[in-house]
Amino acid sequence: MSAVMGDMTRVASARKPSNKTGLERIADDFPILQRRFGDKPLVYLDSAASAQKPNAVIDATATAYRQHYANIHRGLYQLSNEATEAYEACRKRIADFINAPSHDEIVITSGATMGLNIIAHGLGRVVLEKDHEILITIADHHANIVPWQMIANERGAKLVASPINKDGSLDMAEFARHITPQTKIIAIPHVSNVLGTVFDIPAIAKLAKQAGAVLVVDGCQGIVHAPVDVVALGCDFYAFSGHKLYGPSGIGAFWGRGEWLDKMPPFHGGGEMIDRVRISHTTYAPPPYRFEAGTPPIAQAVGLKAAIDYVTDIGMDTIQSHEQNLMRYANQRLSAVEGLNLVGTSTGKAGVIAFTMKCAHPHDIATLIDHEGVAIR
Ligand code: PMP
Repeated sequence: MSAVMGDMTRVASARKPSNKTGLERIADDFPILQRRFGDKPLVYLDSAASAQKPNAVIDATATAYRQHYANIHRGLYQLSNEATEAYEACRKRIADFINAPSHDEIVITSGATMGLNIIAHGLGRVVLEKDHEILITIADHHANIVPWQMIANERGAKLVASPINKDGSLDMAEFARHITPQTKIIAIPHVSNVLGTVFDIPAIAKLAKQAGAVLVVDGCQGIVHAPVDVVALGCDFYAFSGHKLYGPSGIGAFWGRGEWLDKMPPFHGGGEMIDRVRISHTTYAPPPYRFEAGTPPIAQAVGLKAAIDYVTDIGMDTIQSHEQNLMRYANQRLSAVEGLNLVGTSTGKAGVIAFTMKCAHPHDIATLIDHEGVAIR
């Protein structure tokens, strides 16, 4: 069986070996970079929204469908066992990748948005009472605002947003002032998708601990830019999407401390998340399955595992230092453009660049750049 699994996730190695090294070789791994728009090659700068896929991911996903596909967990035949093993291998790979204490604390979802909804509704129903507060920042993505708003309304709690500095950094003293005895949940991004700000999660985890609040991290951008270790970060939950990490769309995951997952009610009801179903009442499966109702993203899990193998083979440290070099170069060149205003300039920021120009509307700028084959948001 493990020989079969090896085949499933490492099919790219069956391709013709390349003589190229370093960056050229990495570029060759992404078939979409062969596309041309008119006579221009594609310059894809929209990875913060969704990353392109290397052959390793495309091939592993295709092989899963071609050779090993069936529904998982309860099929009493070899093909279903193979698919189950591949799906569970993804859970284990994610746990290793983010240093989660146990793979039973990894919940596979359809993406970060779904993960944050499961956490907000499950955790909110356990810890929030009337007049309690949930603290976020104004730099949060909608996926880390709206689910908290919904559960705050349901529980009679209040959503509070801490401001950020002009350069996009978090004013820690101001943030600490927003933490009150009523603060029960703090939900923040690891890295801002617009400003590139890297939030100091260990420092915020200390504040959360002192306040007795649960810390939820939206790791959608964080997981892409640097190695992630949830134990070192000191948070209680960490959610991300697969598609930004070069994996397929339609899959993501979150890690949650076992003690919280055990207490949380499910967000969705259906197959796979049950223990026993009676018409009068149902008992639920233990975590992580309690939170994985319905047929999960089976082939996508194979693709996500391949994506994690792929970035691990390159090295998250290597990716981070290459990105920092690119950022230095981009900042230097963009600062020389007259009338261009960089938005989000905090120290140590990740590779996300936002800018405005006085002379033109953002849509016009994007359209003009698109004519050069450059994809921006
Ligand atoms: N949080 C952040 C910081 C993001 O950048 C995104 C995606 N842009 C999300 C959450 C939501 O991710 P998804 O759409 O994959 O669920």
